[in-house]
Amino acid sequence: MAGPAAYILDLDGVVYHGKSVIPGAAETIERLRAAGSRVVFLTNNATRTREDIAGKLEGMGIRCSAGDVISSAYSTSLHIRQQYGPSTIFPIGEQGLVTELERAGHTIAWQDVDCVVVGLDRQFTYDKLAAGLANLRKGARFIATNTDAMLPNEDDFLPGAGSMVAALAAASGMVPEVVGKPNRPIMDVLLREYGLEAGDCIMVGDRLETDILGGKNVGMHTVLVLTGASSVEDVETSGIRPDTILDSIADIE
Ligand SMILES: [Mg+2]
Repeated sequence: MAGPAAYILDLDGVVYHGKSVIPGAAETIERLRAAGSRVVFLTNNATRTREDIAGKLEGMGIRCSAGDVISSAYSTSLHIRQQYGPSTIFPIGEQGLVTELERAGHTIAWQDVDCVVVGLDRQFTYDKLAAGLANLRKGARFIATNTDAMLPNEDDFLPGAGSMVAALAAASGMVPEVVGKPNRPIMDVLLREYGLEAGDCIMVGDRLETDILGGKNVGMHTVLVLTGASSVEDVETSGIRPDTILDSIADIE
């Protein structure tokens, strides 16, 4: 029997932890490719370009090109273009997001914009929040790259994009359209990009409420690995049931 058409791998907690690669990840990825499956890296990270992310993986000894990466910055840029056409955008986000938006044919501006796009911004300020609010009050669309509340740091957590999205949601009273996992837009961008059917894909993730739910939402087979955010106890309490639970990516058959 042929293997799955594609393995969709989350990054942090699946392939690496911060700066260190998960033991056996590089060998497993090569083994899956040798067996004929495409390997796609799917991340809610919105601060880096696809090239930046591929470069980080290459630096860890994992063969990867920009075309193997789907990030929330890239997905948001494509999603807006596909749904609303080339747009004028006020981003609350970092250079990686700006680069992906511009590359997709959008124009960056502080006012008179079609969309306000919010992602993780480690230079988040009151002025940016105020500009975001002013644009929404004038009728701009409110789009979030993702709503991850926190992101893993070396041995603790930092505030994620979701905390900045929540600030603008609170100020405006508006609910954003969210692109990243577990929502459909990022999954639809991925399936379209590679011409894949969800039923032929295996989603491998460490977080139930983003990776596993995102995979289930589109009908992928889902694998939870226990090298990251979610534990077996979380499976019991969350009500989100992966099809398979493995200790690590290295245990994928
Ligand atoms: Mg993860």
